[in-house]
Amino acid sequence: MHGYDLLVVGSANADLVIGLERRPGPGETVLGSDMVIHPGGKGANQAAAAARLGARTTLLARVGADAYGRMLAEAQRAAGADPAGLLMGAADAPGTVDSSGTGGAAEGEDAPTGVALITVDAAGDNSIVVSPGANARLTPDDVAAARDLFEAAAVVSLQLEIPLETVAAAARSAAEHGARVVLNPSPPARLPQDVLALCDPLVLNEHEARLLLADSQSPDSEPGQSPESDPGEWAGALLALGPRSVVVTLGAEGALVAGPGVGTAADSGTADGSGTVRVPSPRVRAVDTTGAGDAFTGALGWRLGRGDGLVEAVRYAVRVGALAVTRPGAQESYPSAADVEAADQ
Ligand code: ADP
Repeated sequence: MHGYDLLVVGSANADLVIGLERRPGPGETVLGSDMVIHPGGKGANQAAAAARLGARTTLLARVGADAYGRMLAEAQRAAGADPAGLLMGAADAPGTVDSSGTGGAAEGEDAPTGVALITVDAAGDNSIVVSPGANARLTPDDVAAARDLFEAAAVVSLQLEIPLETVAAAARSAAEHGARVVLNPSPPARLPQDVLALCDPLVLNEHEARLLLADSQSPDSEPGQSPESDPGEWAGALLALGPRSVVVTLGAEGALVAGPGVGTAADSGTADGSGTVRVPSPRVRAVDTTGAGDAFTGALGWRLGRGDGLVEAVRYAVRVGALAVTRPGAQESYPSAADVEAADQ
C-alpha cells in the first residue's frame, strides 16, 4: 500500500495575465486590462488536478518565501494535496523539507517564486515570458532529500520546467523505489536515454510529438517538421525512441495509446492490431484549453497509481481533460471525481 497514489516533481509558477489590444513594439508602452493572477506551472497544475479528483498526492517543487509562493501553497492545499513536498524559501518555513538535513538554509533560499507573464491580445493569442525563479533551484539534492516521498509513491509524474538533471534524478529515484514514471517532455528537451527508457508512459501533445520525432531524425530538422504525417504512425515511431509506452494527446480528438499489450484487452477501445489504441474524447464546448494537458496527465498518473491499466487510465483522463476545457482557467477549471461522474449522466 503506497502513501501517495502520485508524487509530482516539477514547476510551480504564478501566472500573471494581462489582456491588451495589441502588443507594444520596442520602446512602446500600451495599456492593458486589470492583471489577473492564477496559480500555474505544469507540476502544480498536475498535482492540483490529481488532488481535486481525490488522489493522495504531493508536489515536490520549489517556490520563494513570498506572496506568490504562499498563493501556490494555498492552491495545493485547497485542491487537497499534501503540502509535504513543497519547498518554500528558507529551510524552516512551514511545509518545508529541509534538504540540507542540518537546519541550514536550503539552496535557492532567496530565489523568488517562478512567474509566467502572459499577455492575451484581441485575437486571443498568448505571448508568454517565463521567469523560472525558484524552479531553476530545484536540485538533485532536493530529490535525494525527499526520498521518503519517492518511497511512498506509486507513480512519479515529471515535466521539464525544472532543471533536466533534477528530472533525471527524480526518474532514477522513482525507478529505484519501484514507482512508475510518467513524463511529459514539455518544454521539449533531449532526455538522457536511460530516463526515456523509464517513461511508462511518455505523455505528449501533437506539437511535442512532432518536435521529438524531428529531433530524433536529424539534428538539423526544422522544428515542427514531422517525418510522420499520420498520428497513428507517430505512436510506433515514438515507441521506437525507447519509452516503455506512449500517450499522444490530440486535443478534441482525444488520445492515442501505444505500448506492449495495448489493444489486447477486451475493453481497450478501437485497436488497430499494432498495439495502438485511439481513445476518443467526449464532445464538449471548449471555452479555455489552458492547462488541459496538465489535467489529463494528473488524472492519468492518479489512475495508474490506483492500479488501472494504461488504456483504462487514459479513458478516464480524456474525460477529465474534456471537462477542464469547458471552464476558464487552469487549476480553477479542474473537475472533482463527482463532476466527472455527473458529466457521464
Ligand atoms: P495540451 O493542453 O498539452 O496541448 P491537448 O490539447 O492534446 O494537450 O489536450 C489534452 C486533453 O484534453 C485531450 O487529450 C482531451 O482529453 C482534452 N481536450 C483538449 N481539448 C479538447 C476539446 N476541444 N474537446 C474535448 N477535449 C479536449
